[in-house]
Amino acid sequence: MTAIDYDGLGRWGFKWQGHDHGTHVPMVDGYWTPWHEAATAITALRGEVAAAEKLREQWHSLSALDAHARIAAEAERDTLRAELADRDARLAEAVEAVKFLMEMSEPPERNCSCHSSPPCGWCTEYAGITEAHEYAASFLAKQEPSQ
Ligand SMILES: [Zn+2]
Repeated sequence: MTAIDYDGLGRWGFKWQGHDHGTHVPMVDGYWTPWHEAATAITALRGEVAAAEKLREQWHSLSALDAHARIAAEAERDTLRAELADRDARLAEAVEAVKFLMEMSEPPERNCSCHSSPPCGWCTEYAGITEAHEYAASFLAKQEPSQ
């Protein structure tokens, strides 16, 4: 987009050449602009007005889009927060359930004698629950930092 150079339109006047004819020439103190220069200036101005209109429309579209995007983002954020809070609550409940289960099913201390008669009575009876406790303890240890 170019600004109109009003000074560039020029001042023109009529210069007599002889007593019955003359020609139009640029004059410092001229008072009119040749029609083709004026027409070019008008066309350029109309182009600038059209471009400005288009920019204004684009700006309005962008503003509307921005507002919609902000509303959508806020709704998404609220949904995610609610989901996260729900998940945190369920995780906390799961942690409590695991702790309770561990308290209620504590296996006796390891007393393996597989070296003499595999599998030994302790392993047959408690190896499974002991492994489950180790797994549960590892799960609980991972939950601690975020609790
Ligand atoms: Zn054993």
